[in-house]
Amino acid sequence: MTSSAPRVGVLALQGDFREHLAAVAELGAEGSEVRVPHDLETVDALIIPGGESTTIGRLATLYGMIEPLRKHIEHGMPTLGTCAGMIFLASSVTDGDQPLIGALAASVERNAFGRQNESFEIDLDVEGLDDPVKAVFIRAPLIEKVGDAVEVLASYRGRPVFVRQANVMATSFHPELTQDRRIHQMLLDSVEVG
Ligand code: GLN
Repeated sequence: MTSSAPRVGVLALQGDFREHLAAVAELGAEGSEVRVPHDLETVDALIIPGGESTTIGRLATLYGMIEPLRKHIEHGMPTLGTCAGMIFLASSVTDGDQPLIGALAASVERNAFGRQNESFEIDLDVEGLDDPVKAVFIRAPLIEKVGDAVEVLASYRGRPVFVRQANVMATSFHPELTQDRRIHQMLLDSVEVG
C-alpha cells in the first residue's frame, strides 16, 4: 500500500464495520475505525455501516460524534451509509425519535418490509453501472420522501433504495456483504487524493 492510498474511516460504534473495512482493503484503500471526533481528522472518506440505527445514534451521542460527523460531511467528506447507516444519515424517520445526522434530505421508513420478509436478495439495476448489483436487504429501511437535491440511483418496488446527494451516498441494502465492490469503488472514486 502506498502513502497515497485513500484513507477510509468506518464508524465503528456498532454494526458490521469489519466487513466494510475488509471491502475497502480489497480495493487498496487504507481503512480505519472511527469512534471519537479526532479519528475523523485523519480520513478522506467515511462509511457508516449497517447495524441498529438507534444504538449507533445513542453511542454517537455518548461519544460526542454527532456534531463532528455533521461538520465533516457538510464540508464535503465523501460518505457512504448502508442500511442503518442510511437511516442515521437521513433527516427524519417516519416514526419514533432517534438521533440523526440529517445530512441526507430524506425521510426513511425503518424495517419497511415487515416481519414476513425481513431478509432477501435481489438483482438491482443501478444508474451508471452496466450489470445489476446483488442487493442484500436485512430488516431494511425504505426511503419515503426525498428532497430536490437527492438523486435516485436505484429503486425497488418504486421506492428509492440507493440515493446520492452531493458527497453523500446511501443504500438500503448491504454492499459489504457480497463480493461486488462497485459501490465501495464509487465512494473511492469521489475521493480526491492530493
Ligand atoms: N433495522 C435496522 C435499523 O432500523 C437496520 C438494519 C440493518 O442495518 N441491516 O436500524
